[in-house]
Amino acid sequence: PTAVRASGLTKTYGAGVRALAGVDVDLHRGRFTAIMGPSGSGKSTLMHCVAGLDRPSTGRVWIGETELTELSDDELTVLRRDRIGFVFQAYNLLPTLTALENITLPFALAGRRPDPEVVRAVIEAVGLADRLDHRPHQLSGGQQQRVACARALVTHPDVVFADEPTGALDSASSAELLAFLRRGVDDLGRTVVMVTHDPTAATYADRVLFLADGHLVGELLNPTADRVL
Ligand code: ADP
Ligand code: ADP
Repeated sequence: PTAVRASGLTKTYGAGVRALAGVDVDLHRGRFTAIMGPSGSGKSTLMHCVAGLDRPSTGRVWIGETELTELSDDELTVLRRDRIGFVFQAYNLLPTLTALENITLPFALAGRRPDPEVVRAVIEAVGLADRLDHRPHQLSGGQQQRVACARALVTHPDVVFADEPTGALDSASSAELLAFLRRGVDDLGRTVVMVTHDPTAATYADRVLFLADGHLVGELLNPTADRVL
């Protein structure tokens, strides 16, 4: 089954910067996909268009059965809140909340009760059980980013989009973070799409898509990704 589909995506900024030049993708549910390519190749633009953060100039996008390109701005806001998890390079945690409060924040925002079973499973997978009462400034960068990933996974969104999630981390912290995303896919059944510059990060993915000049120019399937750990 398809988690994310896009057809004929183009995006032109302002007076003619063509960031996407006709991209088609079909990403399966329960998989970990990496998007790689040189700086300026359109990775962030592609992620923003398929995640409902920006609108393509032409083309269509689906998350599951929902066509994003048919939704109003308000409907897109609700879809992002309820059906998509986001991880950015900067951890974007709320400084006054504890790690646990940050992880369960999406439930508060949606006016829903956290599912204790799911919260427990995510905390176990993320390996922060002894840090749940800490505030972000008491955590390392790697731990903060793992909290941000736990927050993105905890609601069981249709898809988790991670934009350079290891960009600010050292290699040991990156490995821990990627191992958590991998467990999110293998053990918790999440769907992850990650934009990255880092070839090591891409080895954790099941499938790597390569962008150049706004075109998809190739892909690799990684049959050993779930055995990297
Ligand atoms: P099968 O369904 O035959 O067991 P897979 O489940 O490994 O095979 O699917 C492989 C096909 O699924 C490939 O052609 C690939 O293009 C496509 N595919 C779509 N999304 C993904 C993804 N995120 N990771 C891996 N393969 C994917
Ligand atoms: P990547 O993520 O691969 O570095 P981007 O998607 O950020 O690539 O950018 C693709 C192209 O679109 C680049 O030429 C970039 O300068 C341009 N671009 C991205 N965002 C904007 C914007 N908001 N306004 C104008 N040009 C943009």
